[in-house]
Amino acid sequence: MSYIEGRKPWSEGATHREDGTSTVEGFIHRIRDMGGFSFLVVRTGRAMVQCVLEESVKEKSGRQLETGDTVRLEGVRVPETRAAGGFEIRISHVEILSRPSAQPQVPLTRRKMDISIDVNLDNRPISLRHPHERAIFIIQEALVQAFRLFLSGNGFTEVHTPKIQAAGAEGGANIFKLDYFGHPAFLGQSPQLYKQMMVGVFGRVFEVAPVFRAEKHNTTRHLNEYISMDFEMGFLHGMQDIMETETAYLRFAMQYLKEKCAAELALLGAVLPEVGAIPVMKFKDAKKTVVEYFGKKLGGHGDLDPEEEVLLCEYAKKELGSEFIFITHYPSPRRPFYAMDDPEDPGYAFSFDLLFRGLEITTGGQRIHDHAMQVGKMQEHGIDPAEFKDYLQIHACGMPPHGGLGLGLERLTQQILGYKNIRQASLFPRDLKRMLP
Ligand code: ATP
Ligand code: MG
Repeated sequence: MSYIEGRKPWSEGATHREDGTSTVEGFIHRIRDMGGFSFLVVRTGRAMVQCVLEESVKEKSGRQLETGDTVRLEGVRVPETRAAGGFEIRISHVEILSRPSAQPQVPLTRRKMDISIDVNLDNRPISLRHPHERAIFIIQEALVQAFRLFLSGNGFTEVHTPKIQAAGAEGGANIFKLDYFGHPAFLGQSPQLYKQMMVGVFGRVFEVAPVFRAEKHNTTRHLNEYISMDFEMGFLHGMQDIMETETAYLRFAMQYLKEKCAAELALLGAVLPEVGAIPVMKFKDAKKTVVEYFGKKLGGHGDLDPEEEVLLCEYAKKELGSEFIFITHYPSPRRPFYAMDDPEDPGYAFSFDLLFRGLEITTGGQRIHDHAMQVGKMQEHGIDPAEFKDYLQIHACGMPPHGGLGLGLERLTQQILGYKNIRQASLFPRDLKRMLP
């Protein structure tokens, strides 16, 4: 079978030929004996295909089919409105490719598995085969596809920056240390400095890649390895260019999901958000809103705490008609050394977070492009500019006004699907206690 022919199963779960015959390759998900014939549901790479197996064919094929068998079935495609996909396959030939030697530890064939997250994760190689679990990652795939399509279509170049990094990158408490042939190194906690370097090359860049955070707490919103969707753009008119680009991506992505993942969204009962003009509120006003609208005492002054994020989203939904809200102008000392300050609002940075359904999903902002300003800011932060001499080359040799953001893929998926725990939106989550499977 050629790969071109082989494309069809990805949409329909079967390869159909012009003479009316079809091939279905997959796992026997369910068998229903109807007396004289059986209904088979075959779980293919991305679909469930209904097949009909007559007694006479069954007898010819020798071995009895069992749930869990991997099979290659040949047959004729017949329209059937009651079957998923609108067709069924009347089988003429059965080939059993392998037979399991153990029963799965999770109820794969139940409509809903109804198992705890721990059992789900302990049995991840198999639990992911369940149509529900699989649907989560088909949706996640579409979010990444939309990111690529949208940004590529808007003049961004896709880049791949190193994840093994030397001392002198961002630093901080939550880095994983590494022994690099006797030299200290660490796993990248963000592609930040490299994507800025690449703005000097391509003007607009993006990257979809893992980042590593040694989060030492156990929460439902943190993983120790997650996928960051990053972009960085040059020749900014201001921070609003970045926020507008993100808004346009989200609008594009929701439309893309509607078109590509209707079945998966329906299976999971997901309700997509409307992405209109996303309201914008300054950090100072956000803190004030929490006090004045909700009568809550302030959390810390440097950042929003998780409860404040929930409240601000509640406010945005009720009062501003949006499930998203941008919070801008965070206190400068709490933002990284490359963040540009707002000259009209001293002490506050041109930086923003995007909150969605009660959770931060993005941090972004405008970066410093002037060499003297960047060196000065490093000194204010107690950082030795000499440690950043590679990075500072870009400022010295000239950079346009630029900025960008990082959007957490698992958090976006989690919030779209309404999950309480980010682990549900990660294939093989890494957390404080889990490195396996
Ligand atoms: P938080 O305050 O929620 O811990 P952060 O502000 O430390 O997050 P950033 O460094 O701003 O995170 O990262 C940018 C984005 O990456 C976040 O908005 C979020 O979507 C995602 N993200 C950050 N840390 C994690 C993590 N540990 N696990 C999963 N996603 C994360
Ligand atoms: Mg953040």
